[in-house]
Amino acid sequence: MDAAQKRLSSLNSEVEIKIHKEYTNEDSIKKHLKDIDFIVDCSDNFGTKFLVNRVAIEFEIKAVIAGVKDFFGQIMTINPKVSACYECVFDQPVSFETSESPLPVIGVTPGILGTLEALEVLKTTLKLPNLENKLLMVNLLNLSFDIIDLVRNENCFCSK
Ligand SMILES: [Zn+2]
Repeated sequence: MDAAQKRLSSLNSEVEIKIHKEYTNEDSIKKHLKDIDFIVDCSDNFGTKFLVNRVAIEFEIKAVIAGVKDFFGQIMTINPKVSACYECVFDQPVSFETSESPLPVIGVTPGILGTLEALEVLKTTLKLPNLENKLLMVNLLNLSFDIIDLVRNENCFCSK
């Protein structure tokens, strides 16, 4: 049993935890979409974030995508056919090769953004105000949270 699975099971034995030990790519991610209600992107690279976004839109699964660098983070929630998607906001890099090098990050930043992602899943599931059509910009240096309103791009694949 993996450490994360063991720890999470000790918190709530009613939760079934499935571990998939494989890199995320187009084939592997699509194998695990059956009975999925929400995708939470915790990846450390842009290629996976764009892939998660594409799959969420294609299979109409809600998703939350977060990114971190240094003391900064961004997070948005995607509701297919309703809200702006990741590609409405961010242009795909010409090549992912240059974006695949690890970004420097201070340890607490992914912890805080991960907790915010969990909060988004709860709030979205409970139909409370969430980050659909919003991009939350987190600045942990000056401890500020700023929200940018988003609009679906009519020319984006998600609008077709
Ligand atoms: Zn879009």
